Amino acid sequence: MTDCIFCRIIRGEIPASYVYQDELVSAFMDIQPVNPGHLLIVPNTHASSLADLDSKLGPHIFQVAMRLAAGLRGSTVQCEGVNLYLADGKAAGQEVFHIHLHVIPRFSGDNKGAFFALRSRGHSDQKQDRDQIAASIRTSLLHNTIPEIRKE
Ligand code: AMP
Ligand code: ZN
Repeated sequence: MTDCIFCRIIRGEIPASYVYQDELVSAFMDIQPVNPGHLLIVPNTHASSLADLDSKLGPHIFQVAMRLAAGLRGSTVQCEGVNLYLADGKAAGQEVFHIHLHVIPRFSGDNKGAFFALRSRGHSDQKQDRDQIAASIRTSLLHNTIPEIRKE
């Protein structure tokens, strides 16, 4: 799908603050983070829903999410806990129809509650803030012995 926003990011046509990439998935900062450090894991090949996703990608995405959660905890991001969130279908709140897993850092007192119901109250930040946070997460991931870190 050529005009898909996440396909365009993966092709390098739209900038993103990457923290991780391998042959199957990419992970970058969400542009409207619930909390600073909010990440998206996106398959490199377009799949609009879980039904379209190659079945081997399910476990891989979860494995990457586990690594990124550890990376968040070891970075400068305020992260005492992590929510994983995936919306499959419009009725479930999916807005970008290139399936993706949210990895959301949480901390006591962030007042996000059931964060998926409060998305519009997300943290507002700038590209340079996201780049700075992404650099810290990439450094943390290196210390978590992950080999396939994308270099800027
Ligand atoms: P969902 O409702 O699960 O489809 O979430 C889509 C997510 O994509 C939202 O959290 C958006 O903030 C995020 N998003 C949309 N456009 C971009 C972009 N260009 N770069 C990074 N994240 C984006
Ligand atoms: Zn796509």
